[in-house]
Amino acid sequence: MEKSADNMPRIEPRQLTLDSRFKFSCHKGLECFTRCCRGINIVLTPYDVIRMKQRLGLDSEQFLAIYTEIQLLEKTDLPVPSLRLLDDKEQSCPFVREGEGCIIYEDRPSACRYYPVGHATLRPKEGDDSEQFYFFVREPHCKGFESEKEWTVASWREDQGVDKHDIANKGWIELMVRKRSFPPNIRFSTDAKKLFYMASYDMDRFRRFVLESSFLSLNPLDEKTLEAIKTDDVELMRVGHEWLKGVLFEKGTMAPDKDRAMARMEKRMAEKPGK
Ligand code: SF4
Ligand code: SF4
Repeated sequence: MEKSADNMPRIEPRQLTLDSRFKFSCHKGLECFTRCCRGINIVLTPYDVIRMKQRLGLDSEQFLAIYTEIQLLEKTDLPVPSLRLLDDKEQSCPFVREGEGCIIYEDRPSACRYYPVGHATLRPKEGDDSEQFYFFVREPHCKGFESEKEWTVASWREDQGVDKHDIANKGWIELMVRKRSFPPNIRFSTDAKKLFYMASYDMDRFRRFVLESSFLSLNPLDEKTLEAIKTDDVELMRVGHEWLKGVLFEKGTMAPDKDRAMARMEKRMAEKPGK
């Protein structure tokens, strides 16, 4: 979660581990209640989109069109959706209600769950496993730090249900970290970015693409997985991320002929322009 430029949060330079301790409590009645849900930039993860669109009874195309806008992440040059804020004085999140809080609380995005803890992933050297670390995001108006309720980063993650999101997003996080480790002058084509966006976020469109194109003849799936992806967005997302590793980075197991697969996908995307 980031703040707009005129009210920047203070990101503490200290790196935290899962055992790092802090005091914090957030609840109705605090004078700052819901202030952190306004004037913000919340980048959504693929699993966030699945949870939110299901919660709202929308398909992914509808959800993305109504509630998000696309931005290119500076360090990866990859397109991601962020929550489209209301056009009110405070630029409120569309899901916040005065005095009530978040109306989709059980399905709120990962960034909202982590807050006031920030989370980052490093890829120290080629071939190394990703390394996670955490940090505090302190905003001047946030009274939560005045509480005596003590947490570790690990117990906060557990309480906020972050683990499930991070596990579901693992393939996407690996793609982002991998791309970030490339020199900045290496960029994906516009069509490759469209594939990344569709297979990461637009599950209903990606499902049609998988089932109605030559995808399955190029990337055969076992029977159980094939049956699952017809209805299970999370399983489809996992297939999408594995496939993207192949077509974008020549890794993974589902795109043995990268050039051929990419050429076909790009041709099909050109025939069906979209996000
Ligand atoms: S305590 Fe902090 S996180 Fe909670 S509502 Fe206030 S500003 Fe937001
Ligand atoms: S999704 Fe919910 S918790 Fe997150 S900013 Fe919006 S109202 Fe606040």
